[in-house]
Amino acid sequence: MINIKEIWNMTLKCIEDKIPQKIYENYFDDVKLLSLDKNIATVVVPNELSKTLLEGQYKQNLQDSLLEVTETLYDLKFILSSELEENTSSTSSENLSKASFFKHSKLNPNYTFDNFVVGESNESAYKASHLIADHLATLNPLFIYSASGLGKTHLMHAIGNYVLSVTPLKKVLYITAEDFVDEYVRFSTKRDKNNVSMKDFFITVDVFLIDDIQFLAEKTQTCEMFFHIFNLLVSNNKQIVITSDRDPKKLEGLEERLVSRFSSGLTVSIKVPEIDTLMNILKLKIKASGHDLNLFPDDVLLYLAQNNSKNVRELEGALNRIVFYNMINKNPGPITMDLVHQAFDNEVVKDHKGSLSPEKIISTTASYYNLAPSQLTSKVRINQITFARQIAIYLCRELLDIPFSQIGKIFSRDHSTIMSSVQKVENLLKDDNQTIHAINQLKDQLKTR
Ligand code: ADP
Ligand code: MG
Repeated sequence: MINIKEIWNMTLKCIEDKIPQKIYENYFDDVKLLSLDKNIATVVVPNELSKTLLEGQYKQNLQDSLLEVTETLYDLKFILSSELEENTSSTSSENLSKASFFKHSKLNPNYTFDNFVVGESNESAYKASHLIADHLATLNPLFIYSASGLGKTHLMHAIGNYVLSVTPLKKVLYITAEDFVDEYVRFSTKRDKNNVSMKDFFITVDVFLIDDIQFLAEKTQTCEMFFHIFNLLVSNNKQIVITSDRDPKKLEGLEERLVSRFSSGLTVSIKVPEIDTLMNILKLKIKASGHDLNLFPDDVLLYLAQNNSKNVRELEGALNRIVFYNMINKNPGPITMDLVHQAFDNEVVKDHKGSLSPEKIISTTASYYNLAPSQLTSKVRINQITFARQIAIYLCRELLDIPFSQIGKIFSRDHSTIMSSVQKVENLLKDDNQTIHAINQLKDQLKTR
């Protein structure tokens, strides 16, 4: 998360002002900052000559400039780029973050405290998140739980973004529990090669945000590693934030010792938002996406809020749907209730719920992917079949709204696999055009049959 490049660019700007232009051009051009670790700044230089010059004459300058940018006094260590290449298996934190694991970890800059609407339903979660972001490691862990789509992930990213905005050198790691499992498996198989332990990596992390912990259920080995990492971080005063779709006491398939640790810090929940909060969220999302709020009369907003009151993600989807209908109607004026009805009357969920069945979803999805329906409910784990199965599972959940356990029975899979499939497709729907296209086509087909 630490943007070494940016720090270095700013440092170079400070240096540039203080030294002769020629020296700067000849000797600083190929110099790079490799890492800032504890109080040591490791600087890579291209050759012996620039090493001697920098070490001999410009060390103080560099140190002062780094201090100006980072407000930290670093000891400088110079290494030649050739030494670096020989030494790629070293365990400096920079090498660790370059390791192939945790490549999924990214903070979404659009999820901040500023654009999180606070109401009675989420006030305690918001306040607790802000509190721990301001005072790291005073309450450990912070555990946030709620039904899907109520802002847990948003708050997690907000914590990470906030911490980095006030202390850019902190190392923040955001990861879903599902990716954590994948990384653990990938890492375990590479262990001997890179000689870096997962715990070596975690000791460098200041804030560990792990989302949807329920995915660790039944993953005994990953849980074991997670347990050690959890203890390591807590005993080193590092902050942990965990989210889940349920109260920690109701987490199944996780060891008691782990669950009891989850409850040892602060646990907060997010409830279904009040209508006022939903209306405020809608207004905020409309403004954030650059639309004119005047085009959305209150009756339209109220209709959207009342019909999507249990899940903010669905509320956003409904809003996007009417924006889309308004666009294809080329209507320049305010959105009318007629348009809203037009947008939702076409929706398969509302009109055809009764005639839709899991069987229909399975056969339509199978034929869309040129597979046999029985392949989707089989145990076969070939990529293409697995993907089509996940799509069908997602559609069953989305269009029929039946419980995970019931979908599990249809597909002969356990509850957590079903949840994980739904989540996977939901994630893809955020930015994967192919999946968006497939889901739209399938929904259309299901509508007309
Ligand atoms: P969860 O992780 O609980 O399933 P998310 O954090 O992914 O939910 O939220 C789903 C969507 O709803 C996101 O786009 C998020 O920005 C939005 N959202 C949820 N609650 C709020 C809120 N109080 N204010 C603004 N946006 C919200
Ligand atoms: Mg989430």
